[in-house]
Amino acid sequence: MLPDVTPRYDREQVLALAPDAASSNAGQKLASSGAIYKTHTDIQHSDLIIGQCQGSGARPYIIACDLSQPAIKCTCPSRKFPCKHGIALLLVYTDNPAAFADKREADAPVKEWFAKRRDKLDRIDKVDKAQTAPKTPEEVERNRLEKESRQAERLRKINLGVEDLDRFLQDVMREGLATMRRDTNAFNERAGRLIDAQAPGLARYVTELGAALNSGDDFETRFFKVLGPLVLLINAFKNRQYLPDGLIEDLYDQIGINRNQQEILNQAPEQDIVDDWYVVSQNTTQEDRLKMQRNILWGRKSGKYALILYFAHGASAFAESIMPGAWYRASLAFYPSQYPYRAIIRHKEWIPDVQDDDGGVILPAVELEQAYQLWSQALASLPWLNCMPIALKGLRATRSRKHLMDNKGRALAVSLSKMQHLDVLSVSNGRTFDAFGEFDGRKFDVLCIFSDHRSRVSHDD
Ligand SMILES: [Zn+2]
Repeated sequence: MLPDVTPRYDREQVLALAPDAASSNAGQKLASSGAIYKTHTDIQHSDLIIGQCQGSGARPYIIACDLSQPAIKCTCPSRKFPCKHGIALLLVYTDNPAAFADKREADAPVKEWFAKRRDKLDRIDKVDKAQTAPKTPEEVERNRLEKESRQAERLRKINLGVEDLDRFLQDVMREGLATMRRDTNAFNERAGRLIDAQAPGLARYVTELGAALNSGDDFETRFFKVLGPLVLLINAFKNRQYLPDGLIEDLYDQIGINRNQQEILNQAPEQDIVDDWYVVSQNTTQEDRLKMQRNILWGRKSGKYALILYFAHGASAFAESIMPGAWYRASLAFYPSQYPYRAIIRHKEWIPDVQDDDGGVILPAVELEQAYQLWSQALASLPWLNCMPIALKGLRATRSRKHLMDNKGRALAVSLSKMQHLDVLSVSNGRTFDAFGEFDGRKFDVLCIFSDHRSRVSHDD
């Protein structure tokens, strides 16, 4: 039988896995210099490829990759994930999959790693199945009552927290902002109380208020920008019996009563959106020990965008992964909202060759004027909307990293990294270009730049 010679990933997708530019460069150097040797595929699992690389230690590092994800394991001491050896191994594979035609048994630690991974994936699968397993009517009823009483108790606490917050904000307005500026601790204290009241979402608003109050020149503008939605939130909570169902979900989400993933997956699969989804952008941020990956997908039939979040602690890898620039045929369960955006991938299947002639993707882009209209419509349906995903056309670079210009000469506030600024300057070269990002009615967070209307996915610097 002929070995499988079509690599599952291309170079760009592999390089996108690198945690930083240094790893990406080092990986490419290792791959092209022939430093990865003894490459082979495991005899039992065609998804498991292995190679070696001589590092500074006496023994060579053993590198393994589970191609189904891809997930990488290396015996080197690097804390980066994946390390440069892992990147290099995958690059050798994408450049020349035939280098792995040799089928041999992987050594014990690699087999153990692979078995554990597969075991974990199986377990996750089983837990999913157990949670959706049919229960007796008595069990269902008992669970429902328990949940209702927990929810009622929580709402009672939040109610007290909201009343307390309302009084506090009225005091702030009576005392005046200048007085309150001297007593910033009051805001942190209040935020702490709201966390006790199980309303972490409200606590975040109050912390932001305190920060805005002490943010230097023009602090009033920033203060009222946070205060407006917060007061609206308090009033909406007090009058929640009059709100439409969809908006209740958003109200609870803002207050910090979050739905867990399982609840979303328990929604009827018929409500999912099944489409060919393109991974437009991927960014990873880290706060304390928590890593968060934001993936934005675009469905080519539905025309919808979906935000997929992955979380991981410290140096551990994300349990799931998708690749920027790749296409997946996937079924997405959306969080209920007046402006559905965040979603969970229920099933996905990588589609290797969805490409048009030039290998690019055309996202529907609008002019700035229309973006403002779309924003006001979106805001009318969900007043606490932070931002919306949108592709803008006819943009021009300026000399500042803080502004782009549209083709009517109007400025659009952005904050470009140095790399992005160089990108837009070189892509546009005096002409207009399109860009994808998140827009909050005022500022555009550029995530991806198009040249000749073809997407080029930009990654973290
Ligand atoms: Zn390594």
